[in-house]
Amino acid sequence: MAINKPRGTEDLIGVDALTWQYMKDVADSLFVTYGFAPIEVPTFEQTDVFVHGLGTSTDVVRKEMFTALSPDAFAKVSTGGASELKAAQHLSLRPEGTAGVVRASIEHGLVAQGGQPLKVWYAGPMFRAERPQKGRLRQFHQIGVECLGAEDPATDAEVIIMFMRFIEQLGIARDSVRLIINSMGDQACRPAYRDSVSAYMYEHFDELCDECRVRADTNPLRAFDCKNDRCREVMDAAPRISDALCDDCRAHYGQVKAYLDAQGIAYEEDPRLVRGLDYYTRTVFEVQVIDGLGAQNAIGGGGRYDRLVEVSGGRPTPGIGFACGFERLVLAMQACGAELPTPVCPDVFVSVAEPECASKAFSITQELRDNGFVVEADRQGRSLKGQFKLADKLGAAKVVIVGPDELAQGKVKLRDMGSHEEELVDCDALVDRLCELLGCDCGCDCEGEEGCCCGHGHGDGAGDGTKG
Ligand code: AMP
Repeated sequence: MAINKPRGTEDLIGVDALTWQYMKDVADSLFVTYGFAPIEVPTFEQTDVFVHGLGTSTDVVRKEMFTALSPDAFAKVSTGGASELKAAQHLSLRPEGTAGVVRASIEHGLVAQGGQPLKVWYAGPMFRAERPQKGRLRQFHQIGVECLGAEDPATDAEVIIMFMRFIEQLGIARDSVRLIINSMGDQACRPAYRDSVSAYMYEHFDELCDECRVRADTNPLRAFDCKNDRCREVMDAAPRISDALCDDCRAHYGQVKAYLDAQGIAYEEDPRLVRGLDYYTRTVFEVQVIDGLGAQNAIGGGGRYDRLVEVSGGRPTPGIGFACGFERLVLAMQACGAELPTPVCPDVFVSVAEPECASKAFSITQELRDNGFVVEADRQGRSLKGQFKLADKLGAAKVVIVGPDELAQGKVKLRDMGSHEEELVDCDALVDRLCELLGCDCGCDCEGEEGCCCGHGHGDGAGDGTKG
C-alpha cells in the first residue's frame, strides 16, 4: 500500500531542509546580538494553554486546532466518554508558539520581577487545520521570538528592527516587502473601540458575510481581516483605532514610531491592521511581500501582548514578540531571487587503488574528518576510475589516492580535481598539506603559516587543531 504524506504537510528534503537549517542559523547569529537565547517547548500542550492564550473567539481556537489524544483518552472519547476527560487529558498540537513559551515562563518563573526581561527565540513546526493552499499548510514552520518583562517602546522598536534585519539577512530585498504597523490600544481604550466597531457592524449587518455577522458580537475587530469584498468595503468606513487611542497608548505608539524613524526603518501605518489573536495590545505589525505571494502575502507578524501572562495565570507581565513562517519566507526569497543554500561539496575524496589499502584509507578518511575536512569515500566497491568519476560528480576539490606502492613509502597521492596535477605527500603531513592547499575556515589571512589562530600547525606536521 502506498502511503502519502497527510494533506497540508510537506517533507523538507534537500534544498528545503538546508534552507530551514540555514534560516535557523541566520536567526541564531542575529538574535543573539539582541540578547535572545533559544528555547524549546513541547509541540503539544494542554488545550487550555491555547484557549486562554489565544481566546475562544479566534478562528485558530474555534476551528483550527488539532486535538492530540493519548490511547486512554482516545478509548474514552470513542466510547462516548469525552466528558469524563480531565483538563490535563485535553491536548492540542500547538498552532503557534507564544502561548507555550508564556506557559513555560510562568511554570519555571523565568521572568524575575524588576529584573532583566526574558528574551527567547524558537523554531519549529506549528499545526493548524486550515484549508491547504499555496503558502498555507496544516503543518508549517515558524521562527519566533518573545520578550517578556519590558514595556518600553524601545523594546517594540528593537523587536521590529530585528525582524527587518532578519528578512534582509535572508536576502529578501527591502523594497520587495512592506512593514505595516498599528496600535491596537489597551485595556483602557480598546473595549470602547471594540464596542463602537461592533455597533457599526450591526448598522451594516445585512451587508456582512455570515462569518462577520457572528464576529460583530464575538470578535468584531477580526472583521477587518475578512477577505469578502463587500465586508472589506464596509469595514473600510468603520471607526478607526487611531481616533480612539487613549493618551498613554498614543504616546507609546508615537515613541515606537520615533525610534523606527531614527533608524530609517520605513513603515506604513494601517489602522485596520488587527492581529487575529485576542491577546494583542498596543503595537502590532506585519511584514507583507508586495508581489508574488498572492493572498498569503504575510510572511510574519507580531505585536505586544501585555495581558497574556496574566490571563494565563502569571503575574502581570508585559510581552512582545513576532513569528514568521518558513514556507512563506522561502517563497519570498525565491520571488526576489535570493540565494538559497546549496549542498556542501566534499573537500576531499579518499579513494582506494587496491582492496588491500582499504583499511588505511578508512583511517585517513577518519583522520581528515577529525581535522574538520568534509570527506567522502566510495562504499560501493567502484574501480579507481569509478571513484574519480564519483569524486567529480560530488564536486570534491581533492582526491587522496591510497595505493600499495605509495603506502610502502609512508605516502599517498594527492590529486587536484581541477588541474588533475598529482603530488606525493607523507601520510603524516597530509592534514597540514590539505590545510595549506584548501585553507582553514578560521577567517585569518595567515596563508598557511605556522601558529595560525585556528590552532593548526599549517605545515609543521605538529598541529593538533582542526581545519575550522
Ligand atoms: P500568525 O501566527 O497567524 O500571525 O502567523 C505568523 C506567520 O506564520 C504568518 O505570517 C505566516 O508566515 C506563517 N503562517 C501562519 N499560518 C500558516 C499556515 N497555515 N501555513 C503556512 N504559514 C503560515
